Amino acid sequence: MNALRRRLLPLVLIIVAASAGCARAQNADRPVRSSPSIGASSSAASTPPSTATAPATPTAGATPTAAATLIASASASNPSSPTRARPAVTTSAAPVAPRVPPVSAKARADGLIDIRTIVPDAIIDLRYATVNNFVGVRLYPTDARCLVHESMAPGLTTAARQLRRAGYVLVFWDCYRPHAVQVHMFQVVPDANWVARPGPFADSHEAARSVDVTVARAVADPACAASQRVHGHCLLDMGTGFDDFTDRAHAFASYGVSATAQSNRTKLRTAMNAGGLTVYTGEWWHFDGPGADVQRPYLDAPVD
Ligand SMILES: [Zn+2]
Repeated sequence: MNALRRRLLPLVLIIVAASAGCARAQNADRPVRSSPSIGASSSAASTPPSTATAPATPTAGATPTAAATLIASASASNPSSPTRARPAVTTSAAPVAPRVPPVSAKARADGLIDIRTIVPDAIIDLRYATVNNFVGVRLYPTDARCLVHESMAPGLTTAARQLRRAGYVLVFWDCYRPHAVQVHMFQVVPDANWVARPGPFADSHEAARSVDVTVARAVADPACAASQRVHGHCLLDMGTGFDDFTDRAHAFASYGVSATAQSNRTKLRTAMNAGGLTVYTGEWWHFDGPGADVQRPYLDAPVD
């Protein structure tokens, strides 16, 4: 969806919701979307056409502040030592975990966990809890959490650790998505290429086994452009924003995507792949965890 279409979307949807489908049909080279991120299925999402090999390159000054400590190396018994004033920098494997309230009894019974308990430095930017999303209305309560099924914990922990070591943090745009929200999305954009048609079972986001993520620098940057800033941190340039319904959003797109953005997408994929999480080729931000494509009974846990 280009900028003009984005601006016009609310009006267009009011006039004729089917216009989204017409636009989608024009993109003949978009991969067949049996598993959209804004949806419930992920069965065909996971095999990238190439293996990402480029390691993340640390950026100067990008060591995670929460994880970095300065330790005086001099011995107090030898104040004249020339090494006394020289600090050694050590980096812990994980930052201090924030205080996270327990999830609801229903969420706990469904095996859902708050992402902050496994990725303490995660930046939570749930776009569907705001009006800053493709629907243009808030779909989640303002206190919505990023909940994921516990089966995603090992993979997300590994991915976050790999990024952290390179000076980056994961940013979560969407996690568990209640079925009612999926229904609402499809009512607004009834195009299965963009929004998966709600079915009789849950998988992917509806089963809390997929996440929509991007990457930010771990060190807060007040000078970061407003369009790239999230909670004081600067997002890496990925070539498109969230829910950009254009071919440039394809995970391996090169046309119209800068070399820097392609490299940044590789950083994200490499880390997620290290945790066994696989990208949906139609959207660089959508990753599936183990069993994301398995159809399961609906979860009716609240998202907050
Ligand atoms: Zn998604």
